Amino acid sequence: MTELATPPVEERTGITRISHWIGGRSVAGGSGRSGVVFNPATGRQTGAVDFATAEEVDQAVQAAKQAAPAWRAFSLAKRAELFFNIRELVHERREEVAKILTSEHGKVLSDAMGEVTRGLEVIEFCCGIPTLLKSEYSEQASTGVDVYSIRQPLGVVAGITPFNFPVMVPMWMWAPALACGNTFVLKPSEKDPSASIWTAELLKEAGVPDGVFNVVHGDKVAVDAVLEHPDISAVSFVGSTPIARYVYETATSRGKRCQALGGAKNHMIVLPDADVDMAADAAVSAAYGSAGERCIPKVKVGDGMDPSSEMGPLVTREHRDKVASYVEGATAEGAKVLVDGREGAPEEGFFLKPSLLDDVKPGMKAYEDEIFGPVLGVTRVGTYDEAVKLVNDNPYGNGTAIFTRDGGAARQFQFDVQAGMVGINVPIPVPVAYYSFGGWKASLFGDRHIYGPEGIDFYTRGKVVTSRWPDPATSKVDLGFPQTR
Ligand code: NAD
Repeated sequence: MTELATPPVEERTGITRISHWIGGRSVAGGSGRSGVVFNPATGRQTGAVDFATAEEVDQAVQAAKQAAPAWRAFSLAKRAELFFNIRELVHERREEVAKILTSEHGKVLSDAMGEVTRGLEVIEFCCGIPTLLKSEYSEQASTGVDVYSIRQPLGVVAGITPFNFPVMVPMWMWAPALACGNTFVLKPSEKDPSASIWTAELLKEAGVPDGVFNVVHGDKVAVDAVLEHPDISAVSFVGSTPIARYVYETATSRGKRCQALGGAKNHMIVLPDADVDMAADAAVSAAYGSAGERCIPKVKVGDGMDPSSEMGPLVTREHRDKVASYVEGATAEGAKVLVDGREGAPEEGFFLKPSLLDDVKPGMKAYEDEIFGPVLGVTRVGTYDEAVKLVNDNPYGNGTAIFTRDGGAARQFQFDVQAGMVGINVPIPVPVAYYSFGGWKASLFGDRHIYGPEGIDFYTRGKVVTSRWPDPATSKVDLGFPQTR
């Protein structure tokens, strides 16, 4: 055997090629188009991710379609057992995938571990699939006639996911989809795609048959191929509002079921009677990631792999610059910059330190836009009613929170506010896995929230069976519609 004259490209360049996963194996893309993956803490390219063509998306859908009949026939007992295997493997290896998240997304390792843990809760919920799919039965609905309902999988379903939770958001989708007996095609964010391949390898090791879980990477070309594909029955999407609206409109116009979660602008209302220290701590932790010091300038910003860092970099240079532009423009808009995160941020990588704006008002860009970075704005209002009006007038309705010691005020808020998830002295009200996650208004297109009971509903369709077993000895021929009698 001859030695290779030159080492493989990856060894020479230090850049990993990230390929698709189709039918239980890695498949190199042939489009010649790819995306750049960075380590945001250093600002250097670490990966090149293949961008799929419509034909490659079709290959993944065909693999999923082929795997569907056998997967659907897997008994509930076997599916539950598999989910216990998956749960054990993810739990054992959560640090491994957390490091992948940190190296491509930038979030600190403790946040990455938190993300995996929240995703794991959804997998744990799915271990109970035999109970979750139990249905209703009415004996003797009519004389000798029984009626019962069953829920069946949809077939091949797809998920399209954003960059900010590259392992958890896909878990919100594939775990209930697979548990319900569907096969799956995932189109993850092209900015941090490696966690999806890690997931595919883990599912194979856990015993999930080839073709049940597939990954295609890419951009609009791949997304459009998913939305247009006649063999895909349902699409789950999480991302920004304009793309969510587009995905919802396109998928449903092609006859697909669709849940498309969009962007958000999350208001936290602090009433005068609130424990201000607790509220400030909650705002810091919600706005800037890991909790850290109470005082904002003390949040330590650095490489997410460094255990002393409390906040990592932003995902790309463009995103960092866009977020920083809100701080830059704030004074001209009439707001006050109390803490300027552009000062003293590390030179290398895509860092921005926490920023705090005061006197932010509706109509200003810093108020109206989803900034999606560590820039917290304070808006001052005179009354509770004004505060609720602000939240309710906002086009988004994802999460919102109130901080108060007054139970009556909190209860009134829960009654009044137009949002899908409400926190009472809780800054980020992401529901536990046995409830469902979803916003209102421009934060969700479609009528099913994600994971939890509504997730099970989304990935199944109902069938009602009316049955009669006439006794051949006594029954007469009656081919009519069963009447209530
Ligand atoms: P994004 O909308 O840019 O991308 C999401 C997905 O859509 C990605 O897979 C991307 O490849 C694809 N995509 C991007 N542009 C497209 C186009 N023109 N046509 C078709 N597909 C396209 O979102 P992002 O920047 O990755 O993620 C951040 C956004 O996600 C924020 O707006 C955030 O609020 C939102 N988000 C919402 C929730 C929620 O719970 N509602 C949760 C996480 C993230």
